[in-house]
Amino acid sequence: MSLRQLSLVAILLTASAIPALAAPPDDATKLALIKIAGYSTLESPAFNYLTQLSDDIGPRLTGSPPAEKAVDWGLALMKSIGLQNVRAETWHLWKGWTRGAAEASILSPVPRKLTVAAMGWTGSTPPGGVDADLAAANVFDLEDAIKNASQYRGKIIFLWAQGRPKGNINIGIIFGQLGEFLRAVHHAGALAVLTGDYGFKPEGLGLVHTGILGFATDFAIPFGELDREDQGQLERYLLAGKTVRVHINLQNQFTVGPVESANVVGEIPGREHPEQIIVVGGHLDSWDLSEGATDNGFGVAATLASADAIVKSGIRPRRTIRFVLFTGEEQGLLGSLAYVKQHASEMQNHLAAVILDNGQGPVREFQLGGRSDLVESFEPFADSLRGIRDIKVSDKIELETDTAPFILAGLPGINLDQDSTEYKYTHHSAADALEAAKPDVLAQDATVMALTAYWIADRQDRFSTPWPPDKTARALRESGLYDMVHAIGLWTFGDLGLSDSPGTN
Ligand SMILES: [Zn+2]
Repeated sequence: MSLRQLSLVAILLTASAIPALAAPPDDATKLALIKIAGYSTLESPAFNYLTQLSDDIGPRLTGSPPAEKAVDWGLALMKSIGLQNVRAETWHLWKGWTRGAAEASILSPVPRKLTVAAMGWTGSTPPGGVDADLAAANVFDLEDAIKNASQYRGKIIFLWAQGRPKGNINIGIIFGQLGEFLRAVHHAGALAVLTGDYGFKPEGLGLVHTGILGFATDFAIPFGELDREDQGQLERYLLAGKTVRVHINLQNQFTVGPVESANVVGEIPGREHPEQIIVVGGHLDSWDLSEGATDNGFGVAATLASADAIVKSGIRPRRTIRFVLFTGEEQGLLGSLAYVKQHASEMQNHLAAVILDNGQGPVREFQLGGRSDLVESFEPFADSLRGIRDIKVSDKIELETDTAPFILAGLPGINLDQDSTEYKYTHHSAADALEAAKPDVLAQDATVMALTAYWIADRQDRFSTPWPPDKTARALRESGLYDMVHAIGLWTFGDLGLSDSPGTN
């Protein structure tokens, strides 16, 4: 071997040693995460996005013109961030609704004004309102109230929670029964319903919380929500056996037929498995008593800011990250249900949905939506974030937001649970405004969201595959949620042999 040949061998040996010294793939993911965290922390547009949504668009009730404007805003912003395949995916709301005037007062025993707002998708009193005596109905015994609906003819119903729930009745079951009750008393000639929070007491400080009374359901009977203080006053009168006469005037409007709405979708296509998808999102629609900054402008701003940070990093993950701003969440998760339906043929290629919709606080727990099998592999990632925040990992199932349709489809619908002590005041109320949101917390939550999405999308091994319905049903059963999803009609896969009393649900 000549000297020249020897040196060539030496070069080749050195060269062949290089791959062993180069960063293994997991380190490449880590370096990308570091870059994303840097952009997300030092150049966060999140609070600017939230300010635009609050100040330029404002309340955005699904199916309303401002909600349409919000969809256009989302599309334009996704394009300016540099997302690809940006589009509006339309779906139809069964009926639109507009809030009008609302006022109420106690006429006797002691006259005073009440603070009231109509619940969404409920009806109107005759113009000018009605005066009538209150008649109580107990949310813990709606069956009895339905049976004796005729006692409410000509009365204003005061819905309250008295005594203890009977048997295994829970809030989900009550929610299921409420519709039947409202139809029965309306049919029987009741004039209106007044209550706090579905019969329970709301959080106080003079705040009224609006909301929906069922999944994609409207009611002809006028239904007014009171604040905690007013509800307490009426309760004390009734418990003292006093006759309470009330004036109530609620004016609302329904559209004649269905109205169009749309989820806003944009992607960072995967570099190796573009067909495999991680959904990241929040809901664009809000209630209409304020700007919806915490419910869920916060989640929308976090979603868009997480997209911005990943795009700015210039690194494409192995799999596709699909950013989705859902609409119709407040009317019964309608946008996310439409998404799962419209993408049914793709669901086997979905890995997870990461949703932020618990208010304005810092993320404190990754709730993996019943997928106990994924907790162990997720924990090291959560540990890697401890410099940002100590975030727990659990398999808890959150069904009260857009995680639910994904969980029911067998996927980890990952709820980024937040420590939001003030959310109980702001959500669905007039206090849901930009004042309640903090820029540093929002940027931090957007960072957690971006890192979570990228980590799942860029793993060498696929993070998850959907569970078959029987496995999901078992997980729901074990968490005591199966009866609830059944009662409100969300479970569409049959009983799967799991029901205690087949045929009774
Ligand atoms: Zn929400």
